Amino acid sequence: MAAGNIDGRTAVCGLIGNPVEHTLSPDIHNTLAGFCGVNLAYVPFRVENGDLEAAVRGAYALSVRGLNVTVPYKKEVLPLLCGIDPLAKEIGAVNTLVRADGGFFGYNTDMTGLYRAMQEDGVGFEGEEVVLLGAGGVGRAVAFLCARKGAGRVYLLNRSGQKAAAVAKEVNERTGRDCVRAMELGDWRSLPKKRMLTVQATSAGLYPDCERAPIEDPDFYGRVETGYDLIYQPARTKFMRLAGEAGAKAYNGLKMLLWQGVEAFELMNGVAVPSEQAGRIYELLLKKTEI
Ligand code: NDP
Repeated sequence: MAAGNIDGRTAVCGLIGNPVEHTLSPDIHNTLAGFCGVNLAYVPFRVENGDLEAAVRGAYALSVRGLNVTVPYKKEVLPLLCGIDPLAKEIGAVNTLVRADGGFFGYNTDMTGLYRAMQEDGVGFEGEEVVLLGAGGVGRAVAFLCARKGAGRVYLLNRSGQKAAAVAKEVNERTGRDCVRAMELGDWRSLPKKRMLTVQATSAGLYPDCERAPIEDPDFYGRVETGYDLIYQPARTKFMRLAGEAGAKAYNGLKMLLWQGVEAFELMNGVAVPSEQAGRIYELLLKKTEI
């Protein structure tokens, strides 16, 4: 919303994290507020290390309607909430806080957003053998999503094999399925010799380090059927390029960004965003992420 339109009834939502300067969330939320006729101002709040509790309590005291949470607070914020959605609880991370009686209630729209994006692109986990690159915060959440959405097998490859093993153990135990197998990134040659859905959840290749891919050997990409990179900047990552050159379909993470934002907006403001308006936000994000 333009500052001139703020009045005594304007609700405030925002993003807490550190850093927050790169965020596209204000573009998503303020534009949606205009489309949907919601009197809202959405602003980034940089929260310094050690100030998270004061920030969350202060936001509640100031009647803030909702908050997105980004790195490094997606886990740390959990004990400060009055309740947590079951999916977010299982994943152990939230990115969306919604004002409720007595505190903020937490959700994880990163994962529901990714699932919606993949469905829109006609990519599903059900019964699939999935190669998942990365066992960081997002890789861990995607491993849960795969296990919950019926993937037949998830090969979880990470630069640090120990981290992959810890995530695989946790997901298998919590979901009661022997579904996730941990491997080191360098051991990709022992994957089954066939094409599989491959989700790229490492930060290798993220702008400005665009000439990097988590696996550089073109032979790996002969095993990729669909390559789903969660990075959206650059729009065509080296991973996507290598997958495309090997004959695979390749997608980036912009639709995930779109849907996590749309779903957060819906939860915070109690409105449904029509798909045509979500499409207009996608066009806006495409322009904003052009390099
Ligand atoms: P983390 O920092 O938690 O994890 C980073 C992961 O990348 C780890 O698995 C790490 O391996 C791996 N990694 C880092 N550098 C390299 C490298 N040079 N080669 C191989 N592996 C590497 O990050 P997140 O999980 O929070 O984010 C992961 C990605 O997801 C980011 O690129 C981010 O942009 C994207 N993302 C997209 C969103 C969207 O809406 N589309 C939302 C959120 C994130 P190791 O454990 O060995 O260090």
